[in-house]
Amino acid sequence: MPFINTYWFFFIAISVTSQQVERVTYDGAQVWQTSLRGAEDLLLIKRLVDNQDISIWNLRPTRADFLVRAQHKVKVYRQMTARNLSHTVLIMDVQRRIDTQPVTPALWTENTLRIGHRLSWKKYPTLNIIEEYYNFLAEDYSSICRVQSIGTTAENRTIKMINITNGNPNNEIILITGGQHAREWASVTSALYILHNIITKFDKQKSYVKNKNWLIIPVVNPDGYVYSHTVDRLWRKNRRKFMYCVGVDVNRNFDVDWGIAGITENNECKTTYSGPYPFSEAESIALRNLIESLVPKPIAIVDFHSYGKLLLFPWSARAQATQDLHLHRQTADFMTSSMFKSTKQNYSLGATYHVVYPATGTFLDWAYSKGVAHSYVIESRDKGELGFLLPPEEIEDTGKELYAAVRALAKRIKGSDEDSPNKSDNETWF
Ligand SMILES: [Zn+2]
Repeated sequence: MPFINTYWFFFIAISVTSQQVERVTYDGAQVWQTSLRGAEDLLLIKRLVDNQDISIWNLRPTRADFLVRAQHKVKVYRQMTARNLSHTVLIMDVQRRIDTQPVTPALWTENTLRIGHRLSWKKYPTLNIIEEYYNFLAEDYSSICRVQSIGTTAENRTIKMINITNGNPNNEIILITGGQHAREWASVTSALYILHNIITKFDKQKSYVKNKNWLIIPVVNPDGYVYSHTVDRLWRKNRRKFMYCVGVDVNRNFDVDWGIAGITENNECKTTYSGPYPFSEAESIALRNLIESLVPKPIAIVDFHSYGKLLLFPWSARAQATQDLHLHRQTADFMTSSMFKSTKQNYSLGATYHVVYPATGTFLDWAYSKGVAHSYVIESRDKGELGFLLPPEEIEDTGKELYAAVRALAKRIKGSDEDSPNKSDNETWF
């Protein structure tokens, strides 16, 4: 009997180990884009999603980008053709694209040892490398920044926030968040780019940057982020386990307009599952508790996502405009102009509901409903050419344009009459 017990112990141990390393693959999968002419086309897309024939990458009123696996291509093609819907292929071979972006952490070398961390803009960092970088900042820049824990996830990881301040008691608070959605790696690197540039060049910053308290959470959903590195590159949700499936879409779990029939997703197996109830998730609870504990409350939040090159403001679930529409438009216009000056990239702007698609329970809407007047989402590069698989060569420029956007926001908030945020800024990296 002891032999059998030992045997089963090893069998289970091997099974668990092999489960942990087995990657989800997308051999033969493609990403297609199709134009939508109206409600009937949209219904077809929704039906294909419900049947799990496709999964949505990006949905706009007039356009859908979606992943179609090899075994579903013929069926999807036929159904679209029956409606006279044509498509273009955005990504010919999804797995090959994934394989061209290796995520093995950089090794410690003489150079990285000298610098003190292994983060670079040349490849997407693992969570380990990101947290190593936080520790480096906390040690080397302890007079202006510290690392705080704002919550613990289902898989027992700490959600970490970098707090940057010059200690001025009159500072307004700007909160920047990335990585709510696991696969949107560019949102994480852009938040890192911004915190790196604010901290390491703090003395040279304009007063409208220095005289703010910057709270930056590059990885709101660390469980999902790790999973997207180790198992499924295209994972979106967190990693909370339910009866049949895993994960809640963190950015659908806030208590604002939650539970609207036809918008709020209540199937736990769907990629936009809104959770069993509002604030059921560690990540959304952490953001709620943070915002409710801050005095003064933040004057602005900017939530980073990808993709689409959009600057969005509330509402996400309501068709009507907010009372701050004018303020949002003006500020967003200033931000997108600064982005264009920085990298010559055009970002469109508007309310999420109209520009993208209705979504309930978003952090954007919740923060705004709690009195954060300046609430924005930036959907960064690209416009669908490679979507979530944005090449690492674009990490740095994407970071640059989002950095320009948040500096413009900081300037706008204080109404400073100093130079344009783009002037005399020379961002170099390591
Ligand atoms: Zn997102």
